[in-house]
Amino acid sequence: MTARLDADPAGGNPTAAHRPPGFVDLHSHSTASDGALAPAEVVETAARAGLAALALTDHDTLAGVAAAREAGERLGVRIVAGVELSLMDGDKEVHMLGLHIARVDALQAELEAVRDSRKSRAEQIVAKLNALGVPLTVDAVFVQAAGGAVGRPHIARALIAGGWVRDQREAFDKYLGAGRPANVEKQRITIADGIRLIHECGGLAVIAHPGGDGRRERVEPLVALGLDGLEVKHPGHSGEDTLRIAALADFFGLVKSGGSDWHGATNGPRVLGGMQVPEEWLDRQDARLEKRRTAAVA
Ligand code: MN
Ligand code: MN
Ligand code: MN
Repeated sequence: MTARLDADPAGGNPTAAHRPPGFVDLHSHSTASDGALAPAEVVETAARAGLAALALTDHDTLAGVAAAREAGERLGVRIVAGVELSLMDGDKEVHMLGLHIARVDALQAELEAVRDSRKSRAEQIVAKLNALGVPLTVDAVFVQAAGGAVGRPHIARALIAGGWVRDQREAFDKYLGAGRPANVEKQRITIADGIRLIHECGGLAVIAHPGGDGRRERVEPLVALGLDGLEVKHPGHSGEDTLRIAALADFFGLVKSGGSDWHGATNGPRVLGGMQVPEEWLDRQDARLEKRRTAAVA
């Protein structure tokens, strides 16, 4: 991989190469979550694309931030410590970027605690199944999850493998579904808790790719919760989305953000730097943080 990238000065990233300075990318993923490249390689790609700054925003983890910072220092790319949280707004999942996280270790510890509670949810479900006379073990469930995050589908597969049910449907109808005897509610971070957590760790809370939900009636309650910004530029946004969300940010006095949501694409708008986010938007984010710090001291 490295040899091939070295042989190609554009790094397999032709549309973003040789761009004049002054652009940033504030949404990217590495192998710390579901991206294709290791954190240092993401930063190397950002350097080759001529980006002034990069936010690493892996899903629900900051495990890649330290390595990205190291590479950023070496290559002269400013690294914004970030994360993309999956939060619950009622029964709807909302992705929230936490940008400029100052207390990386503290936030990482919180997120690990939530992951552990998911593991103990599986243990609680297994205990209920045992009480119902199904001798399923926690180990049999973990085998199905193969080291990943444990969910009810893994428990259903373990039930099928053990011959206690015929298929997923029977597993949910008989045991695991809402209101069934072995159901345990999932522990999720609510949108209010997510914003509070990001603030406690020194960051800005920015709604990721709001798209069609980027409307006044959806955003207003979140502004009341302390929301800091909206992701305006994102490859999933239509031109109309981008204009409407930018206007909404101005209306509520929120900062704008943007990025390619890079997972490793080598062409199209999802290439790293492909959204051409102006560095000035990052300056505004810095100013908002500075204002908050000053207010905290006063
Ligand atoms: Mn992803
Ligand atoms: Mn997302
Ligand atoms: Mn993303």
